[in-house]
Amino acid sequence: MLVDTLARPLRNLRLSVTDRCNLRCEYCMPEDEYVWLPREDMLHFEEISTLADLFITLGIDKIRLTGGEPLMRRDLPSLVQMLAVKPGLSDLALTTNGVLLAEQIDALRAAGLGRVTISLDTLRSDRFVRLTRFDRLDAVLEGMTAASRAFGSAEAESLRPRPRSSAGGGVVPRAFKIDSVIIRGVNDDELVDLIEYGKSQHAEVRFIEYMDVGGATRWSRAHVVSRQEMLDTLARRYGAVEPVIENSSAPADRFALPDGTLFGIISSTTDPFCTSCDRSRLTADGLWYLCLYAARGIDLRRPLRGGASREELTALITAGWRERTDRGAEERLALGGERRGFVPIENLRKDPHLEMHTRGG
Ligand code: SAM
Repeated sequence: MLVDTLARPLRNLRLSVTDRCNLRCEYCMPEDEYVWLPREDMLHFEEISTLADLFITLGIDKIRLTGGEPLMRRDLPSLVQMLAVKPGLSDLALTTNGVLLAEQIDALRAAGLGRVTISLDTLRSDRFVRLTRFDRLDAVLEGMTAASRAFGSAEAESLRPRPRSSAGGGVVPRAFKIDSVIIRGVNDDELVDLIEYGKSQHAEVRFIEYMDVGGATRWSRAHVVSRQEMLDTLARRYGAVEPVIENSSAPADRFALPDGTLFGIISSTTDPFCTSCDRSRLTADGLWYLCLYAARGIDLRRPLRGGASREELTALITAGWRERTDRGAEERLALGGERRGFVPIENLRKDPHLEMHTRGG
């Protein structure tokens, strides 16, 4: 098994298919305009598939398609189809804001998509517009209904292959999840509403602590709602919240409410999971990032397009992972005090690769 300097295996790949997005979330893409990746640099589906083969040979068994907004990439089901048939891959998932999901879900499911996560931070229309700058909550809710039908039902769950790396550890996560970034003074009064909505859609809700990554230029520690605060709020409403004990490298810690409802919390800001982090990120233009906070990525596009052999590309990926020392979120936490957003806006304007929406979240 290929491991890095801290014995972390290469397992999870977040594959960004575009840096474009159809929302402008306050905590991720707050500007009107961005420096976009040049179109000619975008990896073609065949190129993505070639790189996926190499990654799978080296240990990747889970791929998550992301963006930007991945459903803005034309003909995404074709890519899903190319990836879904790869023998070494046990988990193919998609993270989306849900705006375009209702119209694409059947094609994605038929192409072999295994799981879907929809990002939704509020159930209130006025708030949704303030947070995202677009009046698209109804479209997202339609996407939710479609995802619930395709991935949330008991039948859809029973048909789903189990990811290899979840064998033997805890309760298998649902195929349909809702991710909500919780920000103080913005949506921290919606934890219970989101849990109840998740139940109604047969989705597992995961709350994400607000992170100071790339596009979060307005981040401040005061806006972060910690995992403990979220647990306290939910315990006040539901009674005892029990941790689910599992042996997993997933970013979310999972918990059960007294009625058995499961939910997760991703506490990358107050309690990072760097020591077990097995994920890396490939941008839509083929730069491979070994940490969400990494200053630089390893360029795989140039050698791929320059005619590098399979062996040469494999050697590049192997060396990159073996030398990996990153513990980005832990290092940010260690700064303590009144730290500000990770990347100043001037630097973001110079290099789109520093943006969260380019790295795929
Ligand atoms: N457009 C897709 C979506 O909305 O899920 C995929 C890309 S988005 C960058 C991936 C995830 O990153 C979303 O769940 C989003 O909420 C999360 N995210 C973006 N900025 C964040 C921040 N500052 N803190 C925590 N999560 C963040």
